[in-house]
Amino acid sequence: TQIMSRGLPKQKPIDGVKQVIVVASGKGGVGKSTTAGWLCKLIKQADYLAHCLIHMNLALALSANDSSKAVGLLDVDVYGPSIPKMMNLKGDPELSQSNLMRPLLNYGIACMSMGFLIEETAPIVWRGLMVMSAIEKLLRQVDWGQLDYLVVDMPPGTGDVQLSVSQNIPISGAVIISTPQDIALMDAHKGAEMFRKVHVPVLGLVQNMSVFQCPKCKHKTHIFGADGARRLARTLDLDILGDIPLHLNIREASDTGQPIVFSQPESDEAKAYLRIATEVV
Ligand code: ADP
Repeated sequence: TQIMSRGLPKQKPIDGVKQVIVVASGKGGVGKSTTAGWLCKLIKQADYLAHCLIHMNLALALSANDSSKAVGLLDVDVYGPSIPKMMNLKGDPELSQSNLMRPLLNYGIACMSMGFLIEETAPIVWRGLMVMSAIEKLLRQVDWGQLDYLVVDMPPGTGDVQLSVSQNIPISGAVIISTPQDIALMDAHKGAEMFRKVHVPVLGLVQNMSVFQCPKCKHKTHIFGADGARRLARTLDLDILGDIPLHLNIREASDTGQPIVFSQPESDEAKAYLRIATEVV
């Protein structure tokens, strides 16, 4: 109510970007970046597959590039940017003629992250104002070209960054990631309420690390509890967009910058992410 009563500042779209989807979580380490990164690839892939079907039907021979949506990934998790590692990208963005930063490209996704602008091991010891000016730079000084979707990887929590991103740019929807653990769910609940207050539609919740199946004996263990995010979804009247197991392949793939949806597209883990993308787009 406090936020709403002050009125929202005027939002300005990011040049060239049609839709912005933010990926948020209450708590850190719950798999937000992993989901954000793969969501991008999956949006592309889902669209690509849809086009392939059309192509088959119409016997058109358009190239895959022409048929895929242009997707970008913006990492505004300034304190702990994980997108460079996950997307296997490094280096200084070049500047365009109009002095805007050019995103780095991998797997067909245009990426921008604070991690490209600072040393990998440099700690960020910034006061709020410096963080805000970094966010402003990431929001306004990037030459995205033309994008159908920009997926924004938010920092965990409901602080200044989340609020200022939500108030500065029009956002089509937010996807909230949580593990089934009570402490993560409480924070996810706050996240969902924050988006409601700033009039960002919450597209749904993703339950991550919901179950671990022993690769040897196949026994299933709910390490972080079972179905917590489903309960929260019911409380908040939200959809569950996906349920991702805790799996070694997911950790290894994301930590080595090799998206499972391309390296092991037939795996159950990759399909779990694919379902999220089809719900969102
Ligand atoms: P956040 O962005 O919420 O901080 P990350 O996406 O960086 O979280 O994930 C934290 C760690 O957990 C990473 O090492 C990532 O590879 C791993 N991880 C995320 N989701 C899963 C999963 N379903 N199974 C196994 N490891 C996962």
